[in-house]
Amino acid sequence: MRYLTEFHDPRLAATLLDTIAATATRRWTLMEVCGGQTHAIIRNGLDQLLADQVEFIHGPGCPVCVTPLEMIDRALAIAARPEVMLCSFGDMLRVPGSTTDLFTVRAHGGDVRVVYSPLDAVRLAEAHPDRQVVFFAVGFETTAPAAAMAAVTARRRGLTNFTMLVSHVLVPPAMRAVLASPDNRVEAFLAAGHVCTVMGTAQYEPIVAEHRVPIVVTGFEPLDLLDGVRHAITELEAGRITLVNAYPRAVRPEGNPSARAMLEEVFTVCDRPWRGIGMIPASGWRLSPAWSQLDAELRFDIADLTVAESADCHSGEVLQGRLRPPQCPSFGTTCTPRRPLGATMVSAEGACAAYFQHRRLSAVGGGR
Ligand code: SF4
Repeated sequence: MRYLTEFHDPRLAATLLDTIAATATRRWTLMEVCGGQTHAIIRNGLDQLLADQVEFIHGPGCPVCVTPLEMIDRALAIAARPEVMLCSFGDMLRVPGSTTDLFTVRAHGGDVRVVYSPLDAVRLAEAHPDRQVVFFAVGFETTAPAAAMAAVTARRRGLTNFTMLVSHVLVPPAMRAVLASPDNRVEAFLAAGHVCTVMGTAQYEPIVAEHRVPIVVTGFEPLDLLDGVRHAITELEAGRITLVNAYPRAVRPEGNPSARAMLEEVFTVCDRPWRGIGMIPASGWRLSPAWSQLDAELRFDIADLTVAESADCHSGEVLQGRLRPPQCPSFGTTCTPRRPLGATMVSAEGACAAYFQHRRLSAVGGGR
């Protein structure tokens, strides 16, 4: 297949659905760990088409959603400073902190900008030498290479007015945290192909071996996801515990060596709190000591800020697959995309937003 529309072919989808139905002898519980896959599953009704064979539970795969509240508040504190121009991706600007969000800071006169690439923030720093430009760097292994490239570019260009507030997170430790939970129900994972495009597949082999859980690397189009489900069901029914790369058109076992080398140069692995989940050891990246001049937390002295999460938002349970968004008492009532209580209702990859946008107002497929 050469064109994206071919990955939406209804005849091939029907064939895959028939194969899955003929293979499954019972209903299996699969977790996808990518907000883009969550939206594709809900948008295309794959959970409804596979209701007899699969219960999809949605994992902590939305990077905006898992950015900890204290990081949002640190961004808010930095953005409120008169000398600062704070830049980030559009989703981050609407995510509520403990008192407000970045859009509100902008409405009150703060210099908060939406960028489409970390390099846009570097260009802004070059164009505005009188301003302190801060890039709020969030995301998984997919977006981190571009942030690392921004750091390298800023250093090469001798910029002294560019820093980064870094809140990057790593997928495999989050999968381990889900599996270690006493109420874990995951029988197989659909792993996000774009993460593996950068990092390769080797990091999943220890998880498969230690936790005895199949992992299928898959893509984001309907046929990619159905093929990923087909592989997962085939492995589960055969009693095989394996790692399968069902996305070979994009994923090589070694990943992208150039991107990985840049990540290793700029970042170092650290413990990281995940919003709604808590601290996960070795689950994040921060700037390594050699790059500390670019660390906005050090430049603006806001590293010690701590805050408490709202008790009204159950996004932590949503992010761990324990609660479906419509089961949250606030879903669609006091929490909507216009007035979100939690990040999972704001982000374009959030599970609550997926259910709201596609009018899934009841919890298809059961919940906790
Ligand atoms: S519906 Fe709103 S309040 Fe409920 S978990 Fe989702 S974001 Fe939080």
